[in-house]
Amino acid sequence: MCSYIPLARPDIRKTDIELVNNVLKSGMLIQGKYVGKLEKSVSKLTNSNNSIAVSNGTATMHLALISLGIGKGDEVIVPAFSYVATANVVELVGAKPVFVDITLDTFNIDISKIKNAITSKTKAIIPVHEFGLACEIDKIMEIAKKHNLYVIEDAACALGAKINNKPVGSFGDFASFSFHPRKSITSGEGGILNVKNDEKAKKIRQLRNHGIEIIEDQMQFVEAGFNYRMTDIQAALAVGQLSRFDDILAKKRMLAKVYEEHIKNSNIKTPKVPHNYSHTWQSYHILIADSLDQKEVIYTLKQNNILVNYGAQCIPEQQFYKLKYGFNSIKEFPKAYKAYTKGIVLPLYEKLNIENIKYISKKVNELC
Ligand SMILES: *Cc1c(COP(=O)(O)O)cnc(C)c1O
Repeated sequence: MCSYIPLARPDIRKTDIELVNNVLKSGMLIQGKYVGKLEKSVSKLTNSNNSIAVSNGTATMHLALISLGIGKGDEVIVPAFSYVATANVVELVGAKPVFVDITLDTFNIDISKIKNAITSKTKAIIPVHEFGLACEIDKIMEIAKKHNLYVIEDAACALGAKINNKPVGSFGDFASFSFHPRKSITSGEGGILNVKNDEKAKKIRQLRNHGIEIIEDQMQFVEAGFNYRMTDIQAALAVGQLSRFDDILAKKRMLAKVYEEHIKNSNIKTPKVPHNYSHTWQSYHILIADSLDQKEVIYTLKQNNILVNYGAQCIPEQQFYKLKYGFNSIKEFPKAYKAYTKGIVLPLYEKLNIENIKYISKKVNELC
C-alpha cells in the first residue's frame, strides 16, 4: 500500500492479467471471445436479453439516444446532480436536457418533480443510480409509461444494485454501465448497454461497428456508424473481475458498514440505504454541514494523506450549461447545488481494509 490512500484503486490480480495475456497471445485483439463472454455475464447479472459492449459508458447512452432518433427539438429529462456525461449525451444528439432536482436522502432524482418537467417535446428520461444506489426506477417506469417516454437507466456506477431483488439495468428500455477505473469493476475504459428491443439492439450493434451488416456473406454498410467497439483486451480484464463480483460487493458493503459505525459527528450526514434497496457502494458520499467549507475539508484530508473529492457535479452549474441556458442553480436546483458544494466522497474499494476505514473515519471526525 502507498503512503497515502487514493480515492480509487482497481484491484487487478494475477488471474486477470493472465486473461489479458491470453488475448494478447491470441492476436485477436478486438471483439474476440471475451467481448462475447462479458456481454453474456452482464446479461445474466442484470436479467437482460441484449447486453452490448462498447468503448465507454458515455458511448452507450449516445448510441441509445441515436437509436431512438432523438435530436433537435426534443427534450430529455436528466437529474441536475450526476456526472456531466449524463447530460452531455443529450446535447451531443442536438436535444435539450431538462434538469430535475434530486433528494438529499439518496442523491437521486426527485420523482415528485418529474411530472412538472414533462412537456409535449419530452421524449425520454435518463435517471441515474447515483453512487451505486438505485433511484426509484420502478416508479419512474410508471410515469414514463403514462406519458409515453423512453427510459435509459444511467447505471454507470450501479452494476449489481437491486430494488426488491430486481437488478438495475432490467427496468428501462435501455441501461448503461461503465467500466471506468472509478467503478466497481474496470476494463480501463468500457461500457455495456442493455437493450430491451431486439430491433434496436441489432441497430446498435451496427452503429457500434461503422454501420456494418453482413448480408448474404457480404459486408454492407447500412448505417453511418461509429467505431464504439470494446477491445478484447478490455473485455478480458472485466471478465476476470466479474467472476469474483459477489466478493467485491461483499467487501465494499462490509467496509461501508465500518464507515457507518465509525463516523460520529453532528456535522456529517452519512448515506442511508432505503428499505429493500441493495447498495453497491461505488462511492461513500457524505454531506457536510453548511457551516463547513468543502474545499477546505478536502484540502485538509489530502494533507493527511487521504485523497477525497467532491462526489458529482451540479450539471446546470457547469460553465457550458450555465452560459447556454442561463441557470441559477442555487434557486432552481438547490439540492443538487448543495450536494455539489457540501458532498464529499471517501475512499471505498476492495483493496482497503477495516483499519484503513477506521483511520479515515477518525480523521474525518476530527477535521469536520
Ligand atoms: C462514470 C459515469 C459516466 C461515464 O462513464 P464513462 O465510462 O466514463 O464514459 C456516466 N454517468 C455516470 C453517473 C457516471 O458515474
